Amino acid sequence: MFWNELRLTPINIVDGRPAHYLGLMRDVTVRKRALDHVEQNARIDLLTGALNRNAFADELTRLAGEKSAPMLVAKIDVAGFHEINSGYGYDAGDAVLRQIAERIRSVGFAIVSRTGSNEFAVVQPLGHPNNTLETINLIRSALASDFLVSGATINIRFAIGFVVGVSALDGTKLMRQADSALRRSKSSNFLDVSEFKAEDEMRSRNRIRMTREMQQALENDEFGFQYQPKIDLSTGAIAGGEALLRWRHGLFGTQLPGSFISHAEDTGLILEISRRGLRAVADFAARINQGRSRALNISINVSAIEFRHRDMPAFVDEVISASSVDPRWITLELTESKMAESSPAMIAIMTRLRSLGVGLSIDDFGTGYANLRYLEEFPITELKIDRSFIRGLGQSRSKNIIVEAIVRLSDELGFQIVAEGIETQEECARLRDLGCHFGQGFLFGKAIDPEAFAEVVAQTVAMSATRTNDDK
Ligand code: C2E
Ligand code: MG
Ligand code: MG
Repeated sequence: MFWNELRLTPINIVDGRPAHYLGLMRDVTVRKRALDHVEQNARIDLLTGALNRNAFADELTRLAGEKSAPMLVAKIDVAGFHEINSGYGYDAGDAVLRQIAERIRSVGFAIVSRTGSNEFAVVQPLGHPNNTLETINLIRSALASDFLVSGATINIRFAIGFVVGVSALDGTKLMRQADSALRRSKSSNFLDVSEFKAEDEMRSRNRIRMTREMQQALENDEFGFQYQPKIDLSTGAIAGGEALLRWRHGLFGTQLPGSFISHAEDTGLILEISRRGLRAVADFAARINQGRSRALNISINVSAIEFRHRDMPAFVDEVISASSVDPRWITLELTESKMAESSPAMIAIMTRLRSLGVGLSIDDFGTGYANLRYLEEFPITELKIDRSFIRGLGQSRSKNIIVEAIVRLSDELGFQIVAEGIETQEECARLRDLGCHFGQGFLFGKAIDPEAFAEVVAQTVAMSATRTNDDK
């Protein structure tokens, strides 16, 4: 047997009609096989041998058209895959993905696909919708035992989202619904199994609406900062301020970061928000420090996403060069809980940032990994003790001990220390006794608009000027 290509040419034309045909047959088996191979490869994920995302969509649509119902579509997310890659190396990550695909395939689903870097999907027509949980449990037990990677056994957790189509099956819709359910599983702390619910779709729609609204807000310049004073606890004078992001929403008024930052991070909009943000803060720092003998330091919060997606030192350098600010007047705050492990790359980035002259602060210290190695390895200038240690400081012996230890450590290592969230005189007095240099909190003032902050700063300058005149 061989594949052939036949070409027919009429010959001996008599009265306009051919008397014979000349046929030329060629063996094109090799070419045909090569084409099939290419076509097949375009549908297969080369790493795991499962269908790729495009082929999955095609196959699901085809199967949905053939079957009337019911049909299970499940998506499976490998939790913490990034850590496997960074902890064991990419080869180990690849090996894990291959093992996962193998185990899922062994269950015998109609369709198995790798739909994302660490995401799989399966489709199975069910005899009856009651068989759903049984089928899901087959996936769970196939994936339950430890995985063997480069000589180590690791336990991997999975999030699963699924939907069962029971009538008028629409492949695209089922895929979208399984996706929404998976998103809910991933966002729960327990990373378990979620079945699609109508609210999931609502949430997805809200997310889309929110993204659009935030893009619009960027265009309309609705993001801006308020500034909260940072106080020198030994003198009570303003030593600087922290820029806190605010969204002045046309309809819902001022929105605090808690209601939109994580969304901005998920969608990448944070990059544009903070690009404009750093410029605004640099210009503000330049403005309030004009003619001051002792400069005020303004801090700005930066997101871990920014470190992942842009060359931070180059970006900060560019912004500072375009402004008349002295880099020493700016401090970048990184939230401890969101900081990556202290990789050599991260240390190099921070060192470059420090060489520009900007300060580096670890925010919410004590809430994250509290890895003391950070303090030794990162070229930081400031630690901010999280407000959970400050609340009720007067009444808690353990909080006192912890805060005192952090203050001592910072003194030894040469960092400036700032206590966050000071609300009472008692907390303030305790902190002063414990040797904490700076403080921030509602006791001294909430974040206020730039104009108001500039005015407060100008007044304190005027006051200290009068005082020195009086002293004379
Ligand atoms: P953070 O950097 O730790 O900022 C301190 C938060 O504590 C602020 O909330 C502030 O209003 C609040 N706070 C200050 N003093 C007190 C107090 O005495 N008591 C209490 N209960 N709260 C106090 P806010 O403005 O809602 O900001 C929340 C978080 O959002 C910030 O925590 C920071 O992680 C993030 N964030 C703020 N602005 C930005 C930004 O421009 N970029 C990024 N990436 N994140 C930001
Ligand atoms: Mg902060
Ligand atoms: Mg904080």
